[in-house]
Amino acid sequence: MKTIFRGLLASLCLAASVQPALASTDYPPAIWNPAASCNYSARTAAVSHVTVHTTQGSYAGSISWFQNCSAGVSAHYVIRSSDGQVTQMVREADKAWHVGTSNGYTVGIEHEGYINDPGTWYTSAMYNASAALTRDILASRSLSQKVYDGGAGWNAVPSDSLYNVKGHVNYANQSHTDPGSGWDWPRYKSLVAGSGSGGTSMTWPLVQYGNTGERVRSIQYLLQQWGYTLTVNASFDTATQTAVKNFQSSHGLGADGIVGNATWPALTILTQQGDSGAKVRAVQSQLNESGAGIAVDGAFGPATATAVKNFQTSKGLGADGIVGDNTWNKMVW
Ligand SMILES: [Zn+2]
Repeated sequence: MKTIFRGLLASLCLAASVQPALASTDYPPAIWNPAASCNYSARTAAVSHVTVHTTQGSYAGSISWFQNCSAGVSAHYVIRSSDGQVTQMVREADKAWHVGTSNGYTVGIEHEGYINDPGTWYTSAMYNASAALTRDILASRSLSQKVYDGGAGWNAVPSDSLYNVKGHVNYANQSHTDPGSGWDWPRYKSLVAGSGSGGTSMTWPLVQYGNTGERVRSIQYLLQQWGYTLTVNASFDTATQTAVKNFQSSHGLGADGIVGNATWPALTILTQQGDSGAKVRAVQSQLNESGAGIAVDGAFGPATATAVKNFQTSKGLGADGIVGDNTWNKMVW
C-alpha cells in the first residue's frame, strides 16, 4: 500500500512539474501525445477534409511508430478500438503525413485494427468516438458534413468536392486500401451528420415549385454540379422539381420535391479557391446579389475569394474564403 502510494505521489509530481499538458487543445476529449517532429510538417493549405484510416496494427504500436523518425508518417489522431479513447499526435494546424498528395488540406484519423477483420476491430465505441471527433473538426471550421456514404463502392474515388470525409482509399493517387470494405459508411455518415443530436440546427429557406429568384438559381446550379441536367433559369419549374425529387431519393431523403432544412445541407457543396463548375457559378451569382460585381464564370479565383471573405465579414462569419454550410446558409437567405 505504502509503495503504491509513493508511486502515485511520484507520478503526480512528475505530471505537475515535468510532463507537458496531457489534454489536447484542438479537441479537449483527446489525450495529447505528440508525434516526433520529423514525421510531420507545417500546413500549406486550409483544412477542408477528413481522412479515415485503419492502423493495421495496435493502438500503442501506432502511437510509438509515429514517435519514431524511421516512420516518415503520422496522423493527427489515433483511436482505440476497445473503448474509443482518442490520442492526438499532431496539431490540426500542422500537416500530418497520412494521405500523400492530399496531406495539405486533410486531418487524418487512424482507427485501431485490421481491414480484414472489421467485425472485431470496428466497434461501436470507436465509430462513436471517431464521429464525434470528425463532427468537431468540421464544426470548428464551419465546414459542411459531406460524409461519403459508400454508395459508389468502398474503394471508389469520388471527387473531393462532393465529399469532405472519405477513407484513405477514396482519395486520388493512393496505394492503400484502408479502411477497407468492412467500414460501415452509412453508419458513420449518420453518426457524423445525422439528424440526431450533434448535427447543426441551421434553419434554411423553404423553396418549392412556383418560386423564382436567386435561391432557385442556386438550387439549379447545385443540381447541375451533382450531375443533373436542367436549365438554370431561376424559376422552380417541373424540371427542377423532378431533379430535386431524384436528388432526394438518391440521398435517402423524403422525395417531396421541396428544398428545406433537410435538403439544403445535402445539396450544398463545399466550394473554395481553385474549384470550378456550376457550384462556383452559384456562389458568384449569389455574391453579385450582395453587390460583389464579379464575373459568373464558374472559376473560383482570387476575385471570388475576396468577395466571399467580404461577404463572410459582413455576416459575422470567420472570413476564410471557403464556402461551407454556414456561408451557403447566409447566402441563400
Ligand atoms: Zn491509411
